Amino acid sequence: MSEREMYDVIIVGGGPAGLTAGMYAMRAALKTVLIERGMFGGQMALTKEVENYPGFPKIGGFELCEKFLEHAKAYDLEIIEKEAVATEPGVDYHSVRLVDGTILHAHAVILAAGGTAKKLQVPGEEENFGKGVSYCATCDGFFFRGKVVAVVGGGDTALEDALYLAKITSKVYLIHRRDAFRGSRILQQRVMAEPRIEIIYDTVVSRINSDSSGVRGISLFNKKSEEQRELATEGVFIFVGFSPNNQLVPAGINRNPTGYVLTDEKCETNMAGIFAVGDLRQKYANQIVLAAADGCTAALAAAHYVERRKGAGT
Ligand code: NAP
Repeated sequence: MSEREMYDVIIVGGGPAGLTAGMYAMRAALKTVLIERGMFGGQMALTKEVENYPGFPKIGGFELCEKFLEHAKAYDLEIIEKEAVATEPGVDYHSVRLVDGTILHAHAVILAAGGTAKKLQVPGEEENFGKGVSYCATCDGFFFRGKVVAVVGGGDTALEDALYLAKITSKVYLIHRRDAFRGSRILQQRVMAEPRIEIIYDTVVSRINSDSSGVRGISLFNKKSEEQRELATEGVFIFVGFSPNNQLVPAGINRNPTGYVLTDEKCETNMAGIFAVGDLRQKYANQIVLAAADGCTAALAAAHYVERRKGAGT
């Protein structure tokens, strides 16, 4: 186990919230390190096109990630590409433990670990992941060119990705468990105007059926008529929401019943000096612009916190 020097701020996560926090922390002259275990950009990197980030009427998700990363690196932000495995709150300082045993210390920690796609939890889902079951249209849509696919969900992700898949595939069944979508009105209008999308309301997927070469179809159950039916498809894209990656959130930090971290308006948790930003934190909506705003808020608040602590001689 090795101990590293003391930082002002440790940021865990390199999505839009973490990278923005990194930029603002560096601009505030804080000694800062950002830890990322995998791909920079988080969910943004999995998005085909972003049309609602101000200043960019239309930009590829991956391209926007590169811009965030480039911008943060322009301030010489130190980045460690390793997995963080624990956040250990302390009195004099907080610590973050990495997978290789390294322990980093800092006055403030900004948790920006984002979230992960939820599973349907039906038979056939887990074993067919990568064999027809997907949680990322941008990553896997190409494999279903000219084929029939099913999209499950009724939020913005399901609507947006159904539209994306309609451009590549021959037909998209959009299966939603209710008779009204949760996703935004503009996306609903586009989905309804797309002839290659057929909407199946009030219906849940009860099973994903496969043979040795992968998914062959899905079993559906209509909650109103109570009818069951089989639908032939080789691809099932599941977009039924998102869970916060809260494994690194220390016990004792307040969360809501679904696991999102509760913060004040500075993005600070109930533990002084520990902040939560972006999709990890409970807030009205999850958007790239809001994640970036959280990163800014937390870094500015962390700067005041660090200044106060240093002023107090701790
Ligand atoms: P979401 O808004 O939570 O929607 C999840 C959808 O899946 C809901 O329609 C829900 O149905 C359905 N669902 C949940 N569990 C299910 C189950 N077990 N079986 C069948 N259906 C199930 O999630 P999201 O679409 O991933 O969006 C997450 C956040 O990102 C949202 O705030 C969204 O606005 C934002 N986002 C924005 C954009 C954009 O603005 N361009 C794009 C993507 C995501 P019910 O409606 O019945 O609950």
